[in-house]
Amino acid sequence: MKITANRLDRGFERYQEEFEEAALKVLRSGWYVLGPSVEKFEQEFASYTGVKYAVGVASGLDALILAFRVLGIKEGDEVIVPANTYIASVMGVTINGATPVFVEPDEFHNIDASRIEEAVTENTKAVLVVHLYGQACEMDRITEICRKHNLKLVEDCAQSHGAKYNGQMTGTFGDIGCFSLYPSKNLGAFGDGGAIVTNGENYAADLKMLRNYGSRKRYYFEEVGMNSRLDEMQAALLSVRLKHLDELNEEREMLANRYLTGIKNGKIILPIIRKNATTVWHQFVITTSKRDELIDYLKEKEIGSIIHYPIPPHLSECYRNLNYKEGDFPVTEKDAHEVLSLPFYNGMTEEEQAYVIDALNRF
Ligand SMILES: *Cc1c(COP(=O)(O)O)cnc(C)c1O
Repeated sequence: MKITANRLDRGFERYQEEFEEAALKVLRSGWYVLGPSVEKFEQEFASYTGVKYAVGVASGLDALILAFRVLGIKEGDEVIVPANTYIASVMGVTINGATPVFVEPDEFHNIDASRIEEAVTENTKAVLVVHLYGQACEMDRITEICRKHNLKLVEDCAQSHGAKYNGQMTGTFGDIGCFSLYPSKNLGAFGDGGAIVTNGENYAADLKMLRNYGSRKRYYFEEVGMNSRLDEMQAALLSVRLKHLDELNEEREMLANRYLTGIKNGKIILPIIRKNATTVWHQFVITTSKRDELIDYLKEKEIGSIIHYPIPPHLSECYRNLNYKEGDFPVTEKDAHEVLSLPFYNGMTEEEQAYVIDALNRF
């Protein structure tokens, strides 16, 4: 049996008629960018996450760039970020000219809250948390630290649509929550997309201005903004997906439990979940010191897998100017050598999972 790491077509097929109907409606409407479908999706997404405002943008990276921009983060400022994140989290900081200050992860692969304060300096302006692999960070401690040091808090929720901490949605703890709506995310479009959520009325208004060339009123440009608009097609398709997000996340929970109970191999460490946190299982990530052997072994059995992520930002070529070297963040670097995401997607069959579990147990 051939099993790829992800299967986006399965998520389409289940709701095919609804998606096709929504797409056709947009095609026939004559309105294709920033229109009624975008407004409808923004309202639905704000209500789903439990905030006052949601602003649709062109990508998760743009959401991060715009979030730091409206918070006034600029050159000379420091932003605390997890060392083991996807590069886009860090780029959202550096594209604004600010400096990322990395903090090691804990055993849940999220920023280690107990190590944040030692990274605070007089230049620190904000903390960016990333709810990596779908699991909420330790938000009670982190919001407390931000309050104490008067720091802005931004949440990168690109992998955590629907995940909660103490019953509260990720994205709603800080000043601004940033979501990617890239096709492979839990709430995925059929192209690029992003969303920003906030309770700040001025933030929302500024975000809407900046995503459209810095204009509040047609052809009046008050700032040099971006073209980061969400289109009608994606918004209409996202409204369909959002309606089903909870059931999709519940299915992922069921799939994760099958892996958690089925995989029994002393060489493989299974993911764990923090008390008071939930995960929406964006990825199912195991840890093993035999990672590269395991990838080859799975390949022989035609089972795909992915490393999220093989090179941490501080060792990425694009950040050589920050002058970090191997050994600077040992926990992050160990993770980069040992994590592996198993095949995991909505619509994964019991038979497919059993094949993967059997292979893993005989490794
Ligand atoms: C996907 C992702 C992003 C970037 O989103 P895009 O829509 O691809 O720009 C940012 N942060 C994290 C953690 C992600 O997984």
